[in-house]
Amino acid sequence: MENRAVELIKETCAIEDIVGQYTRLTGSKPQLKGMCPLHKDNKPSFYVNTAKGVFFCHGCHKGGDVISFVQQIEKITFPEAISFLAEKYGLDIEGAPKEFFEIKNSLNMLQKHIEQSSEMDFPEIYLHERGVDVEEFIAHGCGYLPDNQKTQDLLRCKHLRKLGIHRMVGRIMFPFYANTGTPIGYGARTIEDETPKYINSANANGFNKSECLFGLARSKKQDKNDFVVIVEGYLDVLAVNETGVRTCVATCGTALTDKHAKKLSNIWRSAILCMDADPAGRDAVKRAIPILYKHGMTVFVAELEEGEDPHSYSRKHLALAIQEARPGYDVLLDDLPSNPFEAASQLRPILMNIPVECKYVIFDKIGAKLGLPRSLFDTPSTGMPPSLDILVVASNPNMDYLLMFLIHSHEDSDAICFLSPSDIKDPWYKWAYTELFDGKPVAELITLAKDNPSFAANLAKLANTQPPADFANIAVQAACLVAADSIGKQIYEAIHQEPTDFNLIKQLQKRRLNLIKSVNVF
Ligand SMILES: [Zn+2]
Repeated sequence: MENRAVELIKETCAIEDIVGQYTRLTGSKPQLKGMCPLHKDNKPSFYVNTAKGVFFCHGCHKGGDVISFVQQIEKITFPEAISFLAEKYGLDIEGAPKEFFEIKNSLNMLQKHIEQSSEMDFPEIYLHERGVDVEEFIAHGCGYLPDNQKTQDLLRCKHLRKLGIHRMVGRIMFPFYANTGTPIGYGARTIEDETPKYINSANANGFNKSECLFGLARSKKQDKNDFVVIVEGYLDVLAVNETGVRTCVATCGTALTDKHAKKLSNIWRSAILCMDADPAGRDAVKRAIPILYKHGMTVFVAELEEGEDPHSYSRKHLALAIQEARPGYDVLLDDLPSNPFEAASQLRPILMNIPVECKYVIFDKIGAKLGLPRSLFDTPSTGMPPSLDILVVASNPNMDYLLMFLIHSHEDSDAICFLSPSDIKDPWYKWAYTELFDGKPVAELITLAKDNPSFAANLAKLANTQPPADFANIAVQAACLVAADSIGKQIYEAIHQEPTDFNLIKQLQKRRLNLIKSVNVF
């Protein structure tokens, strides 16, 4: 019987339809591709063969049919995946897990009841008092769970009691939806100052507060924006929606998690954090920024006046705050200590996990903020290194600084010894660095470099330059930048050539982390 069910599912459920709900597929049938929804993808590695009904990802090496895709993406068992698909396509499958179906049916009935109850006068008055837009409220499927006979009838269902819905009677209900559009869980807010203010339904059927976001299902339907606004509470989502921004989600009482960020980064490129303007809210913002960066999103922060939250703010000012959101890295630099080392060690845990491109922007900002020479933090070029027979050396301020350091302060060269000559791309710089590090006098190098007059002249200039006061610190940072540049480029090249060498990337990433740890800077 089960085989028949599987066959029926495979015949009926188009894999591209199901996958298409989690990632955008391009190309022409039978071969489609897109960003992998099962791992953090940075190029389209995910292939779907519509004729065979299978998928494969060249990044995480996961593959299979439509059922195993649903299992992996929804983190459910095989029978649950069968039910999931059967329900979606209205198939009558014998042997599907009864409970999964029953919970879904009960929640669907509950949701209808809640939506109907929201038309009653009581919550409307309550909502008006609190400045909640009823239209937005209803559009999200929110409502009221009245203490009446119909509610009591529904609560006879053991599944709803198990989910804790009976504790929510007399409360305002905020639904969370599955990708299929059916409700999977609720947050319930008191209207009579009861404690706790909010109650959540139990985790089941894919509902989990550390993964689910309020407003996600509705935001996903709006494909107009390439950004999503992240707020703290349910009513904040409604407030942002009222400003005309329809893509808004709330974490609702939990800190933003890796799983939240992964879900969001699969759909949007940019995130605008709009948290409460109090110490807890600012703290939440600072913790969320690196998590979003880590998933490759561009991050902005909308700032409200002290003591305000999105819901309490005037809609006009809220719209303006979102429009004028500051870049996330900028916010990270707000309360940075003036000592470069302290500042660096504060930023270190953040910089370790974010993509190389973002890192450079932050280096740039640190340079400006801490008054270090800006030339040290120039965005490195991404071209290939010149071959050995090329005499023209691309000017590299970081390398100039390191050579100057070795010329003027050779005894302290341990400070930068973690930089391996293999990190230096330019053969002339590599040669000079190695020789100076080994203690060869600069005069001798200038003579040896006579075949490359411009490089020899550069060496002479560095030998005659008086180094600035904070010399050693800057040299260490320059060395970090050279190492990061070299490794970053190799990662980039490795990623963009076929086939991708994942071992190399892993090695390089590991090495970079060790480098960073070993100098205790960045
Ligand atoms: Zn993958």
